[in-house]
Amino acid sequence: MSKKEFKAESKRLLEMMINSIYTQREIFLRELISNASDAIDKIYYKALADDSLVFNKEDYFIKVTADKGSRTLTISDTGIGMTQEELENNLGIIANSGSFAFKKDNEVRDGHNIIGQFGVGFYSAFMVAEDVTVISKALGSDQAYKWESQGADGYTIEPAEKDSVGTEITLKIKANTEEENYDEFLEEYRLKAIIKKYSDFIRFPIKMDITGS
Ligand code: ADP
Ligand code: MG
Repeated sequence: MSKKEFKAESKRLLEMMINSIYTQREIFLRELISNASDAIDKIYYKALADDSLVFNKEDYFIKVTADKGSRTLTISDTGIGMTQEELENNLGIIANSGSFAFKKDNEVRDGHNIIGQFGVGFYSAFMVAEDVTVISKALGSDQAYKWESQGADGYTIEPAEKDSVGTEITLKIKANTEEENYDEFLEEYRLKAIIKKYSDFIRFPIKMDITGS
């Protein structure tokens, strides 16, 4: 399968994320949970406007799953999902992201300021992950798709299996280095603390499941 290239400005931001010396790496989880919440909001507002869609609040939640054995952290939601085109357009092009704002501010060159001042969005996952996989099934669609990227050199999209509508984002957490500890993003106490700190206001339940040792 051939790799597609990111647009130049997306590539720049990605490289910045991958090589980030920023200490607040933990904000990646805030970004992914906020996207999950936005996606559930979208299905909620659709249901309000469409009598044929029923919105049962208990069916809508965000789940954070960590598996220490495989070093994966998964954020899944029962939101509106993305079609193949939406995966392509929303995750491949930075103009659709909150991070777009930083491009307009030429004064802001330093990574710290950029990350501090703006929501950095989906790409912040690359601060902690060496591989990001997004499996999504859009509302009203029979086919799910998988988007995958190891960073700046591009991404692939292919058909995938997923039973229910929604999105599942799996981060393969980077290996620890002498300077940096990434293991903490697989620890329940740490994940709970990050969620409490940044995502306390999210109005859908955030469930958690941690396995491995
Ligand atoms: P922003 O949230 O500011 O738009 P992001 O970089 O966080 O920017 O996300 C880019 C886009 O990708 C979102 O606008 C949305 O369309 C799509 N997206 C990201 N995560 C999800 C998700 N979990 N479910 C559905 N769409 C998503
Ligand atoms: Mg976002």
